[in-house]
Amino acid sequence: MIVLSCASQSLHFLYFFPMFLKIAINCPLYKIFEYSFNSHGNSIPSDLSGRRVIVSFRNSMVLGIIIGTCEQSSFPGNIKEIIELLDDSPVFDSPTVDLLKWASGYYHYPIGEVFYSALPIALKKNKKEQLKPVTQWHATENGDEKLIKRSALCKEALKIIKESPRTALYLKEIGIKTQTIKKLSSLNLIKENNIRDTMTRWYDRDIIVTDSHTLNEEQLNAFNIINNCRGFKTFVLHGVTGSGKTEVYLQLIAEKLREGRQALILVPEINLTPQTISRFFKRFNVPIVCIHSSLSETERHEAFIAMKKNEAAILIGTRSALFSNIPNLGIIIIDEEHDSSYRQADGFRYNARDCAVMMAYIRKIPIVLGTATPSIETCYNILRGKYEEIRIDNRAGASNSVIFSIIDMRKQYIEHGISRELALHINEELAKEHQVMLLLNRRGYSQKMICHNCGFVFMCQNCDANLTYHQTENRLICHHCETRYPVPVYCPKCGNHELTPTGNGTEQILEHLSTIFPNARPVRMDRDTTSKKGSLNVILNDISANKYNIIIGTQMLAKGHHFPNVTLVGIIDIDSQLYSNNFRASENLAQLIVQIAGRAGRGNKQGYVYLQTHTPEHPLLTTLINGGYDAFSQKCLLRRMNLKLPPATSLAVLKVDGTDREKVVGYISDAYNYMLSVKNDYPETTFSHPVSAFFTRRQNRYHYYINISSLTRKEHSLFIEKIISVINSFRYRSNVHCLIEVDPLNLD
Ligand code: ADP
Ligand code: ZN
Repeated sequence: MIVLSCASQSLHFLYFFPMFLKIAINCPLYKIFEYSFNSHGNSIPSDLSGRRVIVSFRNSMVLGIIIGTCEQSSFPGNIKEIIELLDDSPVFDSPTVDLLKWASGYYHYPIGEVFYSALPIALKKNKKEQLKPVTQWHATENGDEKLIKRSALCKEALKIIKESPRTALYLKEIGIKTQTIKKLSSLNLIKENNIRDTMTRWYDRDIIVTDSHTLNEEQLNAFNIINNCRGFKTFVLHGVTGSGKTEVYLQLIAEKLREGRQALILVPEINLTPQTISRFFKRFNVPIVCIHSSLSETERHEAFIAMKKNEAAILIGTRSALFSNIPNLGIIIIDEEHDSSYRQADGFRYNARDCAVMMAYIRKIPIVLGTATPSIETCYNILRGKYEEIRIDNRAGASNSVIFSIIDMRKQYIEHGISRELALHINEELAKEHQVMLLLNRRGYSQKMICHNCGFVFMCQNCDANLTYHQTENRLICHHCETRYPVPVYCPKCGNHELTPTGNGTEQILEHLSTIFPNARPVRMDRDTTSKKGSLNVILNDISANKYNIIIGTQMLAKGHHFPNVTLVGIIDIDSQLYSNNFRASENLAQLIVQIAGRAGRGNKQGYVYLQTHTPEHPLLTTLINGGYDAFSQKCLLRRMNLKLPPATSLAVLKVDGTDREKVVGYISDAYNYMLSVKNDYPETTFSHPVSAFFTRRQNRYHYYINISSLTRKEHSLFIEKIISVINSFRYRSNVHCLIEVDPLNLD
């Protein structure tokens, strides 16, 4: 008997033997930790990677993520056992684990923080995953809203569902009654979409597509090239807005769905409008989910699970949706690939477009980057043959091209930033009952408040920046730290009462246009008027319904909205952006001009674009207007190559900030001296002197930086690794905050 039991034990020997887990823990260390795992006689699952665990770390219980396993530990001494295995299946599938490991290396960001930031919020807690059955409501966009005109409850509920598909659970949570939902549903304003429909799996049904167009020649060419691709390849679908790119995406997705594969579409936050979402819902009879910031934590989590369990077929989301577990992913689409919102601006600073390309590579699937204005990085990758460009040069629907004109401001009578010529053109379009759009990248009433007597400029107490006067709020506001100050009545320096607001902002333009066009119906679209949840959609719907005929706003105007009645676009001031210390400024400006021009003449009417400038002969403007974006991007890329700027070189910035200027300077000087001392080992790498940021003091912290650039990515990476290995040893380490940002959008 004894012998027998020994034998049976030895059969299970492997299972009893502790296994070692490599664990990423949310802490700012570039280190992977090892813990042991004892299955206590149960068999060890083969897919431990990507699951969450609770471990004891620095005397507390913390969340960790398994990123690998091994049978031998590389650490000498005692290895602690994990406390609990939280998940029954991986949160991150193996391609996502690989992607995040790669991203940690590429961006030189601590691995634990990378994994932690990729977790859906609901899973950042030390809790087991909970699954509930889910139905979801989405707006149909084809019911008659007049029927609920008198019901505030119905209108409110519809507004929320229009923002994004909403789970029944969420609607209940925020107090919307079942009756209200039933009413909206009976009026065909909303429809149910069962994302946890396990009775008939989406991939077992016939995929039905509704309302698809017959592709034109250019679209068909693009479709065929991409659809024939087996395995990994990056395609750039380059076509103006309205050229039918989305139609191509939809048909590519239909093919993938027929193969039983899922699709991921990333869009910039602002483009995730009800129109975009409903286009997908109308087209396909499969469960579709969304992940973006205005959804609740639970809703995002439900979407994550639905994709992970292959219960939903399509995920439309912003940046972070990329890290979802999508077992059957067949294609990735990045809409508006040039958009800067793909770049995470704080914490783990990654570019979702670049990570998505890596994800497609790992998963061996095609990825499509769609844009009318490819980023210079993308142009470079096309040139090098890394990406394949497919062009669509003609607009698909009925729409005309636009006529560009430059207004030479030097010869103009100007009132509040609007030239008489522009005012006359606006008048003509308004008389024809068309809509006009005016772009000014400055919110508020006036940029500065100046004493008329002594020239004193009102500055923020916490930042080296002047204050902007906001008339609606009646405050001076700092655009760096958002501190609000009462509007002063006299100058603190000379006591004079004559204080002059100078430099116009969107509020002032609106006021001025209301004076010169008293019958016009103007609206302002900037961060101040759209920051409340849902308010942007209200404005967009009202513009569509012709409630307004003048739309004044910041660059958010330029993003993918479709208003067929807009025939004139005016760019009020481009001079301030023509001269900037950011090497990406001209690229961004050219994209902005082309994108906003794309808002004009989308219907069957002629569109006009007017650019007001004091430097009409500026090469950027002349190249862009005479040769189009292609001519501009070629020139811009050439210039970057000559100046050894990205994408021709790899760039990173060491950013240091702190409340004590001397300590910040002390720290960064040490870093600089260290770089000098190892310089000879890195012949392809150069770095700047420590530089103070353009606005050195922000929120009472002093900002300094050093930029580091290399001719090769490999040496760049090695150099950064070297710096990181000593980053904690410089003077005043505990008094400053420092980080290294790879592929930064801005230097400071
Ligand atoms: P983009 O994504 O490039 O801005 P869309 O796919 O949204 O372009 O197309 C612009 C408009 O043209 C849409 O209203 C769309 O329905 C229509 N459209 C697209 N492709 C076709 C086609 N092949 N035939 C007719 N209309 C089309
Ligand atoms: Zn401030």
